[in-house]
Amino acid sequence: MLTVIEAQQRILGQIARMSPERVPLTEAVGRVLARRVVAKRPLPPFDNSAMDGYAVRGADLSTTGVTRLRLVGESRAGTLEPVRVGEGEAARVLTGAPMPPGTDTVAMQEHARVEGDCVVIERAPAFGSHVRHAGEDVECGATTLTEGAALGPGEVGLLAALGVPFVETYARPRVAILATGDELREVDEPLEHGQIVTSNSYALAAQVVEAGGVPVPLGIARDDEDDLVARIRRGMRSDLLITSGGVSVGDYDLVRKVLETLGWRSEFWKVAMRPGKPLAFGVLERVPVIGLPGNPASSMVTFELFVRPAIRAMAGHRRPFRPVVTGRLVTAYHKSDDRTHFVRCGASDQRGEIYLQLLDKQGSGMLSSMVGVSALAVIHGPRAEVPAGGLVPAILLDRTFADRELAGFGP
Ligand code: AMP
Ligand code: MG
Repeated sequence: MLTVIEAQQRILGQIARMSPERVPLTEAVGRVLARRVVAKRPLPPFDNSAMDGYAVRGADLSTTGVTRLRLVGESRAGTLEPVRVGEGEAARVLTGAPMPPGTDTVAMQEHARVEGDCVVIERAPAFGSHVRHAGEDVECGATTLTEGAALGPGEVGLLAALGVPFVETYARPRVAILATGDELREVDEPLEHGQIVTSNSYALAAQVVEAGGVPVPLGIARDDEDDLVARIRRGMRSDLLITSGGVSVGDYDLVRKVLETLGWRSEFWKVAMRPGKPLAFGVLERVPVIGLPGNPASSMVTFELFVRPAIRAMAGHRRPFRPVVTGRLVTAYHKSDDRTHFVRCGASDQRGEIYLQLLDKQGSGMLSSMVGVSALAVIHGPRAEVPAGGLVPAILLDRTFADRELAGFGP
């Protein structure tokens, strides 16, 4: 049986990055740049004042006493007509306004006073003070963002400042989701005895969105070969197909059988982990297919470990995995098999140490511990016994795990 790491590598080895597409900057957040961006203008675009004050010529300033200069005009933010400042002169300047030609230094208004048509500078600033120079943030011609850069709010802001309204990014992968099972109904359908809602269809679609993909629902396939074939064929129009259920060894577990009939290239179908041992992966007509187990918690945890990194790699991310931290188990954990366990926990940060509280109801068919889960503690090794307080690696699912009611960083 493959280890989780081996299975992840096998999947990523079959994943191709999506083709680039041009999107407006307003839709770029969360995507990855497919082509570097070279600055076509400097940032800031012109020399400007970092303070409200007086633009002066540094050479005019007295180093010993006060300096009296004749005020010849004003430069406001957004001014189009530059004021000319000659020897012995100064101009009023406001934050963000262009430096008037001839000036090189700004005297803060707190160190100056106006007397008639003059400004008296009581404390001389050092030459060049409080001036933001053209290109000091980004030089014209510099590569501002490289291919592969993940676009967050900071990147979006910088691109806007550089006057880039559209960016080439990798397309978001379309992920087809197929539920399988005669017992399943949609959320708004009435249930008869023996039937349940296909909660996986909804949970997996939500996970796809969160991972940066576009969910394509394929509905519910009956445990019937023809229905499975028809729906899997529809899935071939997407970039990735995920199925849930029907991959273990029961009489009606037909997903693998049907994929085989269709001629997929099977890579593996079992991973040494819990929850979620049955997990099929292969490629059908160049579309990667991941067969997730049907149990709700198993399907979500295996999505987390195998599908999310695949979606992110397709979307161009160079770092498709979640952060892993070291945390302390609040209660002891015993395991009596060789598989790697992924234990649903609530994580909390207590003075720099991360504590992992095992959530109740860890059964692979149970969904309540998927609510409020912020970390998966990873327990390796055969028949391990981790004592209370023991340190284990944990995958952080939720960067808000340490959210607080109050800011929490003191005065
Ligand atoms: P299977 O692997 O098809 O035998 O399914 C294992 C368990 O998961 C069974 O209890 C199924 O009823 C349940 N299950 C399968 N698919 C879904 C689904 N889409 N939503 C919720 N539960 C499911
Ligand atoms: Mg089934």
